Amino acid sequence: MSITNIQDQLFSNLKTYFGYDSFRMNQQDIVETVLNKQDCLVIMPTGGGKSICFQLPALLFKGLTLVISPLIALMKDQVDGLSANGISASYFNSSQSNEEQSAIIDRVLSADLKLLYVAPESLAGLQNILNETYISCVAIDEAHCISSWGHDFRPSYQQLGFLKKTLPNTPFIALTATADKATRQDIVKQLHIENAQQFISSFDRQNIALEVRAANDRISQIIKFIKQRPNQSGIIYCLSRKTTEQLAKKLKTNKVSAEAYHAGLNFEKRSKVQESFVYDKTQIVCATVAFGMGIDKSNVRWVIHYNMPKNIEGYYQEIGRGGRDGLKAHALLFHSYADVIQLRNFASGASNEEVQIAKLDRMKQFSEATTCRRKILLSYFGELLGENCGYCDVCINPPQVFDGTIIAQKILSAVYRLQEKEAMGMIVDVLRGSQNAAVLAKGYQGVRTFGIGKDIAWKHWQHFIIQLINQGYCEIAFHKHNALQLTAFSNNVLFNGAKVALTKPIEITEIKALVKEKKTRLKRTKKKAKPKIDAHNLFERLRLLRYKISQEEDIPAYLVFSDATLKEIERERPMSDDDFLKISGVGQRKMEVYGDEFIAEIISFMGSKLNKSKKKDTVLITYDLYKSGMSIEEISIERKLSSTTIYSHIAKLFSKGKNINIFDFVSNSDVEAVRKAKVALDSPTALKPYFSYLNEELDYFKIRLALSVVDRL
Ligand code: ADP
Ligand code: ZN
Repeated sequence: MSITNIQDQLFSNLKTYFGYDSFRMNQQDIVETVLNKQDCLVIMPTGGGKSICFQLPALLFKGLTLVISPLIALMKDQVDGLSANGISASYFNSSQSNEEQSAIIDRVLSADLKLLYVAPESLAGLQNILNETYISCVAIDEAHCISSWGHDFRPSYQQLGFLKKTLPNTPFIALTATADKATRQDIVKQLHIENAQQFISSFDRQNIALEVRAANDRISQIIKFIKQRPNQSGIIYCLSRKTTEQLAKKLKTNKVSAEAYHAGLNFEKRSKVQESFVYDKTQIVCATVAFGMGIDKSNVRWVIHYNMPKNIEGYYQEIGRGGRDGLKAHALLFHSYADVIQLRNFASGASNEEVQIAKLDRMKQFSEATTCRRKILLSYFGELLGENCGYCDVCINPPQVFDGTIIAQKILSAVYRLQEKEAMGMIVDVLRGSQNAAVLAKGYQGVRTFGIGKDIAWKHWQHFIIQLINQGYCEIAFHKHNALQLTAFSNNVLFNGAKVALTKPIEITEIKALVKEKKTRLKRTKKKAKPKIDAHNLFERLRLLRYKISQEEDIPAYLVFSDATLKEIERERPMSDDDFLKISGVGQRKMEVYGDEFIAEIISFMGSKLNKSKKKDTVLITYDLYKSGMSIEEISIERKLSSTTIYSHIAKLFSKGKNINIFDFVSNSDVEAVRKAKVALDSPTALKPYFSYLNEELDYFKIRLALSVVDRL
C-alpha cells in the first residue's frame, strides 16, 4: 500500500472510530512508527491522547494488540470506551472466572478481538496465545511502573522483560506521562527495546489554570468557588482523613453533592464513592491522596488542594486529574504556614528526611512565588518555558511591589522584643495589640511594639512575614516550636537603613480573568459560534441526556461523550446525521446509536420551523432517490453518506408513513426478535440494550429498521 493510501486509511479510521478529524501533537508519527513495526517510547502528559497511539494501529493490524495495564479497575472503563466506539476489545485479569477467561482466549483464537487489556500478573494465563501468530503489537501503558527509578514502581512489571524475547518481531509501544531521563533509559533497557524511537511531548498542561490563595476562611472560599461552577465535577485533596470527612459534611449541609474518600474506609465504601463520582452521580470528592489512581474520568473540571501537598510531583499529578478532555480546568491551592509546619513534622525522623524537606521547600517556593507559577512548575521537571504562561494567578494579577521597609522594621523589632521565642501567630497578635489570653498570660501587652500595627489586617501581616522569611530577613526555628528568629540580614534592616521591597496582598476575590478564561491562550475552534440562545440551557439538556444514556448503558457519562464533544454539540447544534457526524468525538457508531436522541433534543430546544425543515431535507433527499429506484448502496455513493445513515433515513421515512418496502431491508424474524426484546427490556430509548439483548448479532441499522416496523405496525 502506498504512503498516501495508509494515511488516508489512518484519517478515515480516526474519524470513523474515534470521531476526530486531526491528530494531536506526535500522535500521527507514533501511529505510523508502530505500523512500521518499530518499537516506540511515548512520553505524553495526562490527557495528551496516548490511547489513540496504540488503539488506532490496533485496528489496522491483522492480529491482536495486547495492552499491559497495571490497574484492573481501569480496564473495564477502557474496554467500555472502545466498545462505545464500535471497537472489539476485552480485558483479561484475576477478577474473572475460568469460564470467562477461556471465552476470551477463544475470541483471540478466532481473531475476533482487536485489543486485549491484561494485568502483568495475569500474562501467564495467556501462554497459549503469546506468540506472533496471534499477537501483532504490544502496548505497555504506565510504563514507568517497570522502573525502580520511577515514582510508582511495581514489581509485577519486571516480568515484562521476557515479552520481547517471546515476541521479537512484534512492535512494542511503551507509554507514560511521567519519566525523567534516567527512568526513560531504564524503561527501554528493562523492556529490551533499546532501539525504540522516543517521542517526548511537553509536560505542560496548558488548559489547567493555576491559582494559589492564602488559606484564610477556606471553607467559605471553597463553597463560593463551587457555587460558581454548578454541576462541575471536582476533587478536593486534604491531608488528613478527618478533614475529608468534616469537609464533605460541611459541603453537604450547604447542599453540595460531596463524599469523603480515604484509605480508612472499607473497600466497598471506597469503590462506591469512586464509582458514583466517575458516573457523575456525586459531584465532588473530598479525598486524601489515596484517591485518583485508577480514575480516567475526563470531565474533572477542577482540583482544589485544601492543604499543601508534600512535594511538586504529587501536586502536579493531582492537578493533572483535571481537564483530561483538553477543556479548561482550574487548580486551586490553599497555602498555609500551619501546613508547612505539619508537613515538616511528618518528614522529620524519616530515613530520607533531608530529601523530603528539600522537596517541601520547593513546594513552598512555588506557593509563595511572585513570578509565573507554570515556569516554576515546569522548570522543576527540567522543562523551560520561554514566556510567562498568562494562565496563572501571578501572570494575570501580577503582585505590586512597594517599599515595605517600615513594615519590615516593625516585624523584626517585634521578633526581637519577644526574644525570638514566639511563632508567627503571637508576633502578629502583639503587633495588632490583641488582648487575648495567651498575650496577657505572658505579659506581652507591656512590650514596646505592642499594638503598633493595628491598622494592618491579621492575614496581611502574615503575608508580609512570609515574604520576609523568603527574602532571608528572618527564619522559622522548626526545632524550637516554630519560633521566628532574626538572621544576619535582620540587622541591616533594623540598624543600617537597608530597604525592603514587599508585595501587596492580593484580595481573595476570585481572579476574574481566570474564571473568564484567557482567550489568547487556549486554542479555539475556527468555526464561528452561532448566536447564543440560552446556550447554557442547551448544554444542561445535553448533559442530562448524556447522563440518562450513561445510566441506561451502565457506562460513565464521559464515555458516552466527553465534555469537549458535548460543548461542540452545544455550539454547532447539528440537526442532521451528517452534521452530527462532523462533531469532533462523534464516530460512526456513536452517531448511529446516540445521534437520533441528541438531534431530537436540539430540535426540541430550537423549536424553529426553519431548522426542522433542514432536518427533514436530508431524509427527503434520500426518499426522492429511493423512489427513483436507486439501491441503498447507490444512494450512499451518490450522497457520500454511509449506508448505515441511509438505512436510518429509510427507517425514519417508514415511521413517518412513507411508502417504503421495508421488508426489502429487514426480515420478519428480525422484527419479531426486536419486538420481543422491546417488551422484555421495557421499551428502552437507546439501541444498545437491544444490541446486547440480541447477543450482538443484529446490526444497529437492522435494529433501527425493525423498530420502525414494530412501532408503526
Ligand atoms: P492519556 O491516556 O494520554 O491521558 P487519553 O488517550 O485518555 O489521554 O486522551 C485524552 C482525551 O483526549 C480523550 O478524551 C481523548 O478522546 C481525547 N483525544 C485524544 N486524541 C485526540 C485527537 N486527536 N483529537 C481530539 N481529541 C483527542
Ligand atoms: Zn504564569
